[in-house]
Amino acid sequence: MVISREEILEVFHGYSRDEITVATLGSHTALHILKGAKLEGFSTVVITTRERDVPYKRFNVADRYIYVERFSEISNEEVQERLREMNAIVVPHGSFIAYCGLERLEEDFQVPIFGNRRILRWESQRDLERKLLRESGLRVPRRYESPEEIDAPVIVKFPGARGGRGYFICSSKEEFWRKIGILKEKGLISQEDLENAHIEEYVVGTNFCLHYFYSPLKDRVELMGIDRRYESNIDGLVRIPARDQLELEVEPSYVITGNIPVVIRESLLPQVFEMGDKLVEKSRELVPPGMIGPFCLQTLCNENLELIVFEMSARIDGGTNSFMNGSPYSFLYHGEPLSMGQRIAREIRLALEMDMIEKVIS
Ligand code: ATP
Repeated sequence: MVISREEILEVFHGYSRDEITVATLGSHTALHILKGAKLEGFSTVVITTRERDVPYKRFNVADRYIYVERFSEISNEEVQERLREMNAIVVPHGSFIAYCGLERLEEDFQVPIFGNRRILRWESQRDLERKLLRESGLRVPRRYESPEEIDAPVIVKFPGARGGRGYFICSSKEEFWRKIGILKEKGLISQEDLENAHIEEYVVGTNFCLHYFYSPLKDRVELMGIDRRYESNIDGLVRIPARDQLELEVEPSYVITGNIPVVIRESLLPQVFEMGDKLVEKSRELVPPGMIGPFCLQTLCNENLELIVFEMSARIDGGTNSFMNGSPYSFLYHGEPLSMGQRIAREIRLALEMDMIEKVIS
């Protein structure tokens, strides 16, 4: 059973409210989560291993360290106990969820987290994610039930957190089976991967990853920043002239290695806000109390200027690292360089001041 909000509020009631610590795992977006918390007056703690503490030490964003042997220990009872002793609110990011394990985070992690714990499952399961996006009325790529149906360019994705390894593009069932054969031969995919392959329309367009923040306290959807992805080896592959690409026979992969900040054409902003608003509204109905804090829509903008969503995060996304010192959009709100990390900490601070912490933690 998913830990109830009441159980978490009980933990929180045992906290010393003047000594709240913002905590996260040392990976993903920890730098600006911790820096932002410090700027808002909180103390900070990072959970890390000896091998991975370098960035937090060099940039000096953590007041305290909880060392573990392996990241997967973050959900151990001992770590949880230390976090509670520190009056910690944990900001769950992609790596935190991956190492904690979704089920443990839902059922065993008895430490308050910022955001809606129940919605995390909706971003990690493709079917639930698609249901939420579709029912929100957002455009998503067409999905193909079987390779037999392929009649246009598609991208073939495999399950699990593999960072786009083995993904490929094809335009017919013959090409599908030929490429599957090559990938299997090279040991890049298994029979099980093949059975769970996800085939969707390949959208030719420009990439915009939209980083929103929903404030339950202000009942407002804010656009905090936009990035686009820098992926290996595909972004290197496209620098090779077509003639040489054919000679090389390199298999493309989509492993994320970095993020590039972008701004979107201003006339697309009404669409951007409409999409964020719709998702917030529908998630309230499907996964109450709905979206809390940061979320992200990974989109492609086609030549008809339609934004098509191929992925969603219901928590802070890695692309927010592209605006640690604020983005052109976050600047517009208060005329200050605001990161997503600081925006989260500000919401926590406001919730404490307004005595409404139950609106932002679970
Ligand atoms: P992660 O969860 O780490 O972001 P993933 O393994 O779930 O990655 P996606 O994000 O779905 O993979 O896709 C990886 C990359 O493939 C995208 O960043 C984008 O470049 C490309 N891509 C994905 N879906 C489509 C699509 N429908 N049309 C065109 N390109 C796509």
